[in-house]
Amino acid sequence: MLNKLIFVINCGSSSLKFSVINVQKKKILLFGLAENFNNKNSYIKWNINNTQKKKNFYIKINHKIILNYITNNILKKYLLYNNIIAVGHRIVHGGENFVNSVIITKKVIEAIQKASIFAPLHNPIQLIGIKEITKILPHLKNKQVAVFDTAFHQTMPEESYLYALPIKFYEKYKIRRYGAHGTSHKYVTQIASKILNIPLNILNCISCHLGNGSSITAIKNGKSIDTSMGLTPLEGLVMGTRCGNIDPAIIFYMFNELNIQIDKIYKILTEKSGILGLTNITSDFRYIENNYSKDNKIKRATNIFIHSLSKYIASYRILIGKKMDAIIFTGGIGENSVLIRKKTIKKLEVLNIFIDNKLNNEIKFGKTGLINTINSIPILVIPTNEELMIAQDTFNIINR
Ligand code: AMP
Repeated sequence: MLNKLIFVINCGSSSLKFSVINVQKKKILLFGLAENFNNKNSYIKWNINNTQKKKNFYIKINHKIILNYITNNILKKYLLYNNIIAVGHRIVHGGENFVNSVIITKKVIEAIQKASIFAPLHNPIQLIGIKEITKILPHLKNKQVAVFDTAFHQTMPEESYLYALPIKFYEKYKIRRYGAHGTSHKYVTQIASKILNIPLNILNCISCHLGNGSSITAIKNGKSIDTSMGLTPLEGLVMGTRCGNIDPAIIFYMFNELNIQIDKIYKILTEKSGILGLTNITSDFRYIENNYSKDNKIKRATNIFIHSLSKYIASYRILIGKKMDAIIFTGGIGENSVLIRKKTIKKLEVLNIFIDNKLNNEIKFGKTGLINTINSIPILVIPTNEELMIAQDTFNIINR
C-alpha cells in the first residue's frame, strides 16, 4: 500500500531536488533532479521503479514551472499525488530561531526571510518553493515542514559558537558560528546509535561529512557541541573549491596590495580554492584517488586536505572527553574514498584509532559498515540520506 507519503523538496539557486518517501517503510519511491534553470540546457530527470526518465526543456525555467511539472506530469501520472500527506522543505539557514524542524507558519516564513542575510543564495529561493507548493497543493497548506541545516547545531555551547570579535557583532548583528550539513550529521548519528546499540542520548562521536562541501561535527550525548563550518559554509576544512580556514588578513592583502575587488575575492575563496585551487586541475576525488601516486600536485593537495581533516578530528576528540564511541565518515568522499579514510586514520593512531585496510577497501558505493581493527575505537562508514531525514522529521511533526 502506498499510503502516507512525504514529498521532499530541496530548492537550490538554479536546481531543485525532489523525492517522495514512504517513511514507515523507509522507502524512497521517487527521486529526481531539475538543473540548469538559467539556460537552454535545462532538464528534469527522475527515477521511479528503478527506471530513469528525463525531459529536456530547451528554455530557461524556474522553480514554479518545475514544481508544476512535477505535480502534474510525475506525481499525478504515477498515482502518488493522492497519497502525499505532507511536504518537507530543506531550508539552509534558520538563524538562531530553530532548534528543530517546524510546521511552516507565517511567523516561520518571516524568520526564514530574516535569516536570508546569512544564506542569500538559498533561503529566498526556498521561500519561493514554499509559496509555490502552497498554491499547487493548497490542501497541504498547514502540512508543510521546514527542516533546517542549521538546527542540529543550535545545541553548541557559547565557547563553540562565539567568535572573538567585539561582542556587539554577535549581540546586535548575530554574527556567530551556525554550522551546516546539520541534517546529514543528525541522520548518520541516529544510524550510528542503532548500529552500535548505544542510546542516542549517551552517544559520543565525531561525524565527518566529506563531499563537495565538507564539515565535521563533535557530538556529545547525541547533540552537536562544535562544528567546523561557521557563519557560512566557507569556514573549516579544506574543501573541493572552498579554502576553509585561512588567515582573514589574506583578504585585506588581496584587496589592498593586489587590487582584487571584493566580489572577486569572494569568488576566489569559494569557487577557485580548495583542492581545485591547489591542483589547478580538479576538485573531483575520483580523479584524486586515481592520480595520488602519479602527480605531485595531486599528492600535495590531498595531503593538505588530510592534514586539515586529521587536525580537526584530533581536536574534537579532546572535546568529546573520555568516552568516545565512534568516528563516522559520510558524504561522497567519506563514503567512497578508501585513500582519504586510510591516510587520515593513519595519522590518528596515537588516539587509539586504527583502520582495517581490508574492511576499508570493501566499504564503498553505498555500503554501510565498520572499517576499524578490533583494538580501535569504532570507525563507521554510513551513506548519508538527508532526504529520508527530512521526510522522517516531516512525518513525525505532522503526526504529533
Ligand atoms: P557530495 O557533495 O556528497 O555529492 O560528494 C561529492 C564528492 O564525492 C566529489 O568530490 C566526488 O569526487 C566524491 N566522490 C564521489 N564518488 C567517489 C568515489 N567513488 N571515490 C572517491 N570520491 C568520490
